[in-house]
Amino acid sequence: MLIFDAHLDLAWNALDWNRNLLRPVSEIRKREIELGLIGKGRGEGTVSFPELRRGGVGLFIATLLARLLRPGLTPALQRYEHMEAAYAAAHGQMAYYRALEQKGVLRWIKDAASLDAHVRAWNANPQHEPLGLLLSMEGADPVLSPEQVEEWFQAGLRIIGPAHYGVSPYAHGTGTEGGLFPLGPALLQEMQRVGMILDVTHLSDQCFDEALDIYGGPVLASHHNCRALVPHQRQLTDEQIKRLIQRDAVIGTALDAWMLAPGWVRGQTRPEEVGVKLETMVNHIDHVCQLAGNARHAAIGTDLDGGFGREQSPYDLDTIADLQRLPELLRRRGYDDEAIAGILHGNWLRFFRQALPQN
Ligand SMILES: [Zn+2]
Repeated sequence: MLIFDAHLDLAWNALDWNRNLLRPVSEIRKREIELGLIGKGRGEGTVSFPELRRGGVGLFIATLLARLLRPGLTPALQRYEHMEAAYAAAHGQMAYYRALEQKGVLRWIKDAASLDAHVRAWNANPQHEPLGLLLSMEGADPVLSPEQVEEWFQAGLRIIGPAHYGVSPYAHGTGTEGGLFPLGPALLQEMQRVGMILDVTHLSDQCFDEALDIYGGPVLASHHNCRALVPHQRQLTDEQIKRLIQRDAVIGTALDAWMLAPGWVRGQTRPEEVGVKLETMVNHIDHVCQLAGNARHAAIGTDLDGGFGREQSPYDLDTIADLQRLPELLRRRGYDDEAIAGILHGNWLRFFRQALPQN
């Protein structure tokens, strides 16, 4: 079954982690161990293009991730001293996707018609069609001004999450409290004007509310779990989930282990100690479905290799190809074929058929 994964930091892995994603995951792990690379996630990666194909992940949202360095936050994630550098780095990541598109590995989807054409082609020939990509920016640090949103849209960007961990020039993000910065409302207004989709993932609670008040366009939560199950500001409250459902949003459930089950101590806990397995993801999917009263708003946004590897993923997941076990796990929880297809790809397809440009 076709799987749509709404959050993969592929270019960041390729450029900042220097991973050759054309190679098998086993080889990338081995290479990092041989090179003596140390640090979280090294030698433990779970994502590369061969694994995406093996797992039937024929469509995904890939990110541009180029954050300004902020005090107190990990330099591995946030490294640039000035916005012009973040702008240039994001363009470099975009060039990575373009290079792979030219190589026939990726198909960069920018409108509703090419989305449908890709799904038809993929379903007819999943062994050989390029992998489909929608482009998103995680943290708006590379957007030099609100007026520049249109330039990014012309370049093929379709989704912006205004903040990431810490603050961005526009908004408070994960781990911080506060509202939009003075340029935040203008960014959101310009996004709506040009048709750029808003990703609320990583927004602080106050920014979540303010952004939804200001922005009237299509909204999604690309990689976001439930606070009722794992208490932390990174997760969505039930009220926030209900507000997203009212906006006809889709919420991608993430596979970052600390967001799946409570009691995780970063850098210490192992997934098996808190019982985080792939099936734990279904708890979050099910929670969204119960709040909605249907299965139309829950989906997948794994964030695999988003700064972590197997050591912070479900203990029974070796690579992203294991997502193909999800249909059976959902079936065991009482989901029928239509609901399962919706969660695995159909809900995102419905969302993007409406949210992408129609020409
Ligand atoms: Zn993230």
